[in-house]
Amino acid sequence: MTNTVPPMRERESPNHGPRRAGAAIDMLVLHYTGMDNAGIALDRLCDPAKQVGAHYAIEEDGTIWRLIPEDRRAWHAGLSFWAGETDINSRSIGIELVNPGHGPDYHSFPEAQMVALEALCRDIVSRHPIPPHRIVGHSDVAPGRKRDPGELFDWRRLAAAGISLWPEKIEPALPSNADFAELMRRFGYADSSVESIIAFQRHFRPANLTGIADDETKARLAALAKQAGLA
Ligand SMILES: [Zn+2]
Repeated sequence: MTNTVPPMRERESPNHGPRRAGAAIDMLVLHYTGMDNAGIALDRLCDPAKQVGAHYAIEEDGTIWRLIPEDRRAWHAGLSFWAGETDINSRSIGIELVNPGHGPDYHSFPEAQMVALEALCRDIVSRHPIPPHRIVGHSDVAPGRKRDPGELFDWRRLAAAGISLWPEKIEPALPSNADFAELMRRFGYADSSVESIIAFQRHFRPANLTGIADDETKARLAALAKQAGLA
């Protein structure tokens, strides 16, 4: 495994402020841009009137743009929650992946884009104490409000690259409904509502977005909590 980051292009986004004093950078939040193409998406991320920005954006051909310095609080997560924290922007680095998003043109993220993302993530986690279970999608921290990067994002591949988590080893013992709710909270979700379960499924069980905590969903959460040392 190499830590070499592909060459980056620079563009300046004004959409950031100071991080909350004392907040460690210990989360990584992945997004899709949800715009028709990279040009429109980058313009939006750099438009002071839009007030949305991320530290990095990655085009489908793998071009990485550095938009905001990591020591600044980029405005990417909005109203959100993870593991007791509501100021996700102060604790995280945000990466936008160019993709039209949910709609007729939503598609999986191309190889070149994934390769660039893996290299960038590896570099970021080598410089910040970000554990694998705190590498999340926007939908994980804002269920019901956000769907990105969505069920077509290959989280399993990111885990196989040693960056995030995937429930490879399923636990034979299923948690009860009460234990499931507790594990959801311990893992980071605000609650175990239908919206939060759908967010969990979008990330960890993308073939089944029912919002119902069936046995497979319970087993996957139990496996993940164990891997993360939270069970
Ligand atoms: Zn987003």
